[in-house]
Formats: sequence, structure tokens, C-alpha cells
Amino acid sequence: MQPKILWPNNKRFAFTIFDDTDRANLQDNRLVYKYLDELDFKITKSVWVQEGKKKEQNQGITCDDREYLNWLLELKNRGFEIGYHNTTYQSSLRQETKEGLEKFEKMFGRNPKVMANHSANEDNIYWGSHRLSGSRKLIYNIITRFKKNTLYKGHEKSSPYFWGDLCKEKITYVRNFVFSDINTLKKCPYMPYRDETKPYVNYWFASSEGNNVKMFNKCISDENQDQLETEGGACIMYTHFADGFCKNGELSEKFKKQIKRLSKKNGWFVPVSTILDYLKTKNETQIINSKQRADLEWRWLLDKLFLGTT
Ligand SMILES: [Zn+2]
Repeated sequence: MQPKILWPNNKRFAFTIFDDTDRANLQDNRLVYKYLDELDFKITKSVWVQEGKKKEQNQGITCDDREYLNWLLELKNRGFEIGYHNTTYQSSLRQETKEGLEKFEKMFGRNPKVMANHSANEDNIYWGSHRLSGSRKLIYNIITRFKKNTLYKGHEKSSPYFWGDLCKEKITYVRNFVFSDINTLKKCPYMPYRDETKPYVNYWFASSEGNNVKMFNKCISDENQDQLETEGGACIMYTHFADGFCKNGELSEKFKKQIKRLSKKNGWFVPVSTILDYLKTKNETQIINSKQRADLEWRWLLDKLFLGTT
């Protein structure tokens, strides 16, 4: 049993969100973030720096759109964090990633502190089967028919998609495992952690499964919120705010009700990297050993097999 974390300002637990920017549009984004701001949730909104070279089903608005960029800068001024979701919605070669990161710094005045890999981008770092080791990797490869074994090359020096050195230089936290439990910290008590088998990532963090509006609302059910509070834990929710949260210019009533209930609790509602920075000061592990790595990988693999987490 992990000792309880003492959160700042006598808060009883921590809750935040990393919003993957897939399929986002400005109008719906405004609706979601206005509501979160009203309830004083300052979370992390990820972005794509620029348009891809070809149309994509999963694409969404990027920082090439001036009005969107201005809105992002406003969000940032209001205390939200801007995260990185790769340079764009499709694979970027090393030079494109390098330019993307430089552009990010120019636009937002600093490097992205936190990132998450996007779907099937070949520049993803330690993604697919590279998330796992030993027998877990083999099981994963068998389940996915070895389709995700060689696709991702952000960490492979010989690949044209390599950018591991830039990740190490510029980005502090990268997301890996997503669990079904609302208390991310309970499932991944080591976070933020280093993994010496993945040297291009400074620190890893985990998340809780809230992929779309349905999963999100399920994860923050009354019962789960109360559990998070009782356990004094931390939830870093993984979601896509473009997936079902808004319909015809209206925010999901259920989402509004659930998140409002959560806002009334004595929680710490700050961006992802603020929570991770704080945990870093409390976390004595930092570098996970092989037993801790195996524990984490099994825990995730079982969640993935039985509950389909990301
Ligand atoms: Zn994505």
C-alpha cells in the first residue's frame, strides 16, 4: 500500500486531463474549455503544430489556423497547459519534427513539457510493441499479429523518423500506459518515472481511460469520484474532447453534471505537468527496476486484454 500523498493547500486528491487533439474544431473546443474554465479546471490541451501533407480521417484543426492559435494563447494565459501530440496527424520525418518543435517554442514561448504519441504516426516514440518487454511484448505481438512490432521509429537512430535526441532535449513527460481505474497513481505509483530501457524519454506518466464522452463519463461516475477522493489519489485522464462531448453546439449534459460534481470536491485541478512536477518531489523511485517494469506492463496488458484500454 502506497503512503498517501499530501497534496498542496490541503487538497484531498488531484485530477487533470490530457486532451488528445484528434478531430478537434474550434467551435466545440471553445464550448468544452469555457465550461472547464468556469469550474476552474486548468488542464492540458494538446495541439498539432501544423497541417499534414495529405488529408486524414482523424485530422483536426492545427496551429496553422490563426484564429485557433490566438484562442490557444488565450487559454495558456488563463492557466491551461499546451501539450504536444506530435507535429501533425501523420508521420513526420526528422527534419519536420525538428521544425515542428521549433515552431511550438516560437508560438508558446517554451518547449512542450508534456506529450502523447498520436495513433499510427511512424515518428511515435517507444510505441506499439516497444511499450513492453519480455513475455509481455511477445503476448502483445501475438494479439496484434505483429502489426505493431516495427511500425514506430521515433527512438530508432537509423530511421528517417528518428527524433529521440530532440525528445530528450526538449520534452519532460511522455504518456505511456492507460488504465481503467480512475486513480492513475494507484495503478502507476512510480510516476513520473524513468525507464533505463527507454533512454530518449526523460520521464513517463500513465493515464486513466476516458477516450471519448462515454468512457470519460464512466470513469468519473459518482462512485469513482468518491473513490479517488477517499484514496487521496491522482487522476490524469486521457481523452479526446472532440469525441462526443459536443453535439449541435451543446455540451453533453451528463458530462456537465459529472464534472460539476467533481469540481465541488476539494481537489487539486491543475495541468498535467504541474501534478507530475509535484509528484517528482515526492517520488523516491524515479528509475524503475525490472520488477517494477514487469508489474506495470502486466497490469496494463491485463487491462488492455479485458477492458480494451489504450
Ligand atoms: Zn491522437
